[in-house]
Amino acid sequence: MQDHQKIGDAVDTVNRMRSLYDSGDTRSYSFRRDRLLELKAAVIKYEKKIAGALFADLHKGPEEAYATETGLVLAEINLTLSKLRRWMRPQRVPTNLANLPSTSKILRDPLGVVLIVAPWNYPFMLTILPLIGAIAGGNVAVLKPSELAVATAVLLDEMIGETFDRDYVHVVQGDGAAIVPSLMKAFRFDHIFYTGNPAVGRAIYQQAAADLVGVTLELGGKSPAIVEADANLKIAARRIALGKYINSGQTCVAADFVLVHQLVADRFVEYMKQTIESFFGKNPAESPSYGRIIHERRFDKLVSFLDQGEIVFGGQHNRADRYIAPTLIRNVPPDAPIMGEEIFGPILPVFSFRTREEAAAIIARHPNPLAFYLFTADRGTEKYWIEETAFGGGCVNNTGWQFANPHLPFGGLGNSGIGSYHGKFSFESFTRPKAVMKTPLWIDPAIKYPPFAGKINWFKRLIR
Ligand code: NAD
Repeated sequence: MQDHQKIGDAVDTVNRMRSLYDSGDTRSYSFRRDRLLELKAAVIKYEKKIAGALFADLHKGPEEAYATETGLVLAEINLTLSKLRRWMRPQRVPTNLANLPSTSKILRDPLGVVLIVAPWNYPFMLTILPLIGAIAGGNVAVLKPSELAVATAVLLDEMIGETFDRDYVHVVQGDGAAIVPSLMKAFRFDHIFYTGNPAVGRAIYQQAAADLVGVTLELGGKSPAIVEADANLKIAARRIALGKYINSGQTCVAADFVLVHQLVADRFVEYMKQTIESFFGKNPAESPSYGRIIHERRFDKLVSFLDQGEIVFGGQHNRADRYIAPTLIRNVPPDAPIMGEEIFGPILPVFSFRTREEAAAIIARHPNPLAFYLFTADRGTEKYWIEETAFGGGCVNNTGWQFANPHLPFGGLGNSGIGSYHGKFSFESFTRPKAVMKTPLWIDPAIKYPPFAGKINWFKRLIR
């Protein structure tokens, strides 16, 4: 279908979605709960097909597909189902002296018709996870999966189409650069939830600003991992390697580069080599646990990074298979292009540092990382780095797993994003606080009304 026809159809649909939202039908607890139950049943029913699509798009094995996509989605639905009634309850808050004897409460109102734009790297999970928040919030949602994860986009269209009324949740497929701006121009959404790269995030933010539409932006950046001299190097290597090489490094919360204390740098690299081999064997191209690069353009970009330092491990690649081996690279000049942008692939630059100031200066070249990781055994060191560094979320002695704890907010800051989600934070992102004060009629002191002359001292006492 041509893009303009697709946009025309989508605009007709979103207009009907607006009517459904305006009818108020999506707001009740029972409606939201039932839709979440239907979504859960659909995910369970489609589990095999989801795994098949993720294998086709990214060479993800069924275990990895479950652990990093389907399972996380089911866990989020379960948590939301168990807490939704409580989250929806109006929250009573105190009332200040000047307003007594009124009572005050905060209600959570749905946002309305929301647009969810998702990327290709965890194409199922990053489309459905925000949808769970949107449903829990009482909204209707348009989903725009990434056209680059083709098989998953087709599967999402089928699964959502079979599960939900088209006027409630609707999937739009196709070229995001053509479709998303046109759709936003033709229809005023109430909120845009975008996951992807910062350049497109900025463009979406600009377009949304023209209509004063709110956004949640889940973006990327260069996330550092610091390995201090007192760290448990063996564990650091395992945990950094898992976060970095799963999905072939195409993970927003992977460590982009490592800063390791020079006293332990060589040993750390040795442990990394052993770890990679223990994960993926001597030839990771043959490992069922090792992924592929999403498309040739990204492959070419990543391969261009390989000669920007000394490859100390890996480096093998095969364009026909979009395969790049898990790679360690050292002696990278700080101004090399690989350090100018998020790598988003299985190439890990390792730098050694002597002092914290030196390490901090390297981190400061890429402000506001999405994630930050620290390996140390010392509480004081931990306090220093966590307090000194601004980042979206992170781990001490681990990498990536903060994403999988739905009790933590997930989001970035500055270049790595605006807003957060997961668990209750999703519910809050897809609703807005509505303040309501109720004032009884049995008392109505004249002092609050004009004429005000002579009341200044009373006001001073009451209002302060
Ligand atoms: P992508 O190319 O699939 O784009 C993301 C979405 O934006 C797609 O649905 C696409 O159709 C749409 N799109 C593309 N161009 C557009 C335009 N001009 N206007 C509007 N929409 C457009 O994915 P990507 O951007 O390559 O994803 C990788 C990036 O996403 C990395 O920077 C990564 O760090 C980041 N990321 C962040 C998170 C997070 O949760 N913070 C998660 C995954 C990925």
